[in-house]
Amino acid sequence: MHSQVNKTAERILDWLLPPSCTLCGSRGEFGLPLCAGCWQDLPRLKHACRRCAEPLPQDGLCGRCLRRAPPQDLAHGAFLYADPVDRLVQRLKFGGRLGTARLAGALLAAAARSAQWERPQLLIPVPLHRARLRQRGYDQAQAIAAECGRRLGIPMDSRACQRKSATAPQPGLSRAERRRNLRGAFVVVTPPQARHVAVIDDVMTTGATAGELAAALKRGGVERVDVWALCRAGPDR
Ligand SMILES: [Zn+2]
Ligand SMILES: [Zn+2]
Repeated sequence: MHSQVNKTAERILDWLLPPSCTLCGSRGEFGLPLCAGCWQDLPRLKHACRRCAEPLPQDGLCGRCLRRAPPQDLAHGAFLYADPVDRLVQRLKFGGRLGTARLAGALLAAAARSAQWERPQLLIPVPLHRARLRQRGYDQAQAIAAECGRRLGIPMDSRACQRKSATAPQPGLSRAERRRNLRGAFVVVTPPQARHVAVIDDVMTTGATAGELAAALKRGGVERVDVWALCRAGPDR
């Protein structure tokens, strides 16, 4: 009942004060800070490796996943990490704007719907280390997962896992170095009561972070772990 009232209030507010497009300033659509033109122009990830979401000329498996299967069962990326999605992500990380996170969650939910990604029972955001959470003020992967889950009717569990070490994203590191850096970075504190979960991340660079979390969840007894990312960088170097 309450949520119905809230939804109605939200709709009236959107009608009275339509949000303006976060990219170009025009009038937003669907109650979101994005206009129809910018929505059309977003760089969608069309074809990718089904295990790590690396962009490929056609759907299939990349050479790396063929040689060595990653911990996750599937990976989906909604967009390429390219203009203007990269600007959205920068705003998510450094602007501290929950409105952008809400938009990102809505975009991820729309991609999951239109490409018919198989629905997991639970969404698990890639946890942020507490020190970085304090510094940033909010957790962007959690905010994206909350909005995406709300729109798709999938619960989110942000307490199942913790990040043990404050591993900073380190561009310039090789794939092997990244993996070494991340080893043991996540711990499952409360094993999720679900057979099939999806890890939610904002940007998948090489997939090493999401893969490490997927491995931890599997050690914690989860049978199937997919990765859903707002965007995917690549192809991998
Ligand atoms: Zn726009
Ligand atoms: Zn792959």
